Amino acid sequence: MKLNVGKIFKKKDTAEVKVIKLNDDNSVNAGANTASANKADKDSSAQQSNTEDDVTVCPKCKQEFKKQEVKDNLNVCVACGHHYVISADKRMKNLVDKGTFKPLKCKVEFTNPLNYPDYEDKILALQEKTGLDEAVLAGTAKIDGYDAVIAVMSSKFLMGSMGIAVGEKITNAVEYADRKKLPLIIFTASGGARMQEGIMSLMQMAKTSAAVEKFNNNGGLYISVLTHPTTGGVTASFATLGDITLAEPEALIGFAGPRVIEQTIGQKLPEGFQRSEFLQEHGFVDQIVPRDKMRETIAHILRLHSKRGK
Ligand SMILES: [Zn+2]
Repeated sequence: MKLNVGKIFKKKDTAEVKVIKLNDDNSVNAGANTASANKADKDSSAQQSNTEDDVTVCPKCKQEFKKQEVKDNLNVCVACGHHYVISADKRMKNLVDKGTFKPLKCKVEFTNPLNYPDYEDKILALQEKTGLDEAVLAGTAKIDGYDAVIAVMSSKFLMGSMGIAVGEKITNAVEYADRKKLPLIIFTASGGARMQEGIMSLMQMAKTSAAVEKFNNNGGLYISVLTHPTTGGVTASFATLGDITLAEPEALIGFAGPRVIEQTIGQKLPEGFQRSEFLQEHGFVDQIVPRDKMRETIAHILRLHSKRGK
């Protein structure tokens, strides 16, 4: 399968040029934490002249804002701080030192182990739409001068579900960090295992976890950043194996969905269950970090764990 990374990386950069420039083309997926995501998605670029389409209503505080205003604020509501979904390339761009991002080479051929109908067409359409080749963007970069391996999952690509390609790309990033003795940072966003790949998806949990264990045994530093939503097989594997676990505010983080749990245990769940704040209170998350503080927080952690300085 041909990788389509043209939207993130300028075409001429994909083959030879080593330092990749991240574009700023990310469509605002305003309201993506809610059902309004689809509506917002539709009007991301083509209809700039239509004023109604330039406006977004915050799902939390219900105020109206210009989309550009939210975009310029890292896709965070300027009034209440609600964190909208952000594209993987925009997140990466805001995290790393300018011009230092280099994608890791990891080509995974498309496979359809269950012969799932229309699966390949769906993947091709998503590649075209998101500019990603799969639901994770991985590479090396500097953060405030500190080298690191960084992987960012995208919930815009089949809900960030983990199939063979995502498992391989995450594992490759972990193994690269292990070989090069670099810190590893993974931003998770996932609906869980990818149903289209059946049991092959579930195997990625063991594969990624084994890679993280080896990295850990060799003394590597792994910072896991949980973003909205991190669920299912990703939560049950590498997302919760970090040495340090950060989370964005009010992110949904869990394994099974709340309705399934309520039906299973026959009880009502407590308020705020499976949100970052609840998990921090119960010791699963070390720190909740708003998006505008993420870069400095991670840089601080890297500085604390650096042996030789930059
Ligand atoms: Zn708001």
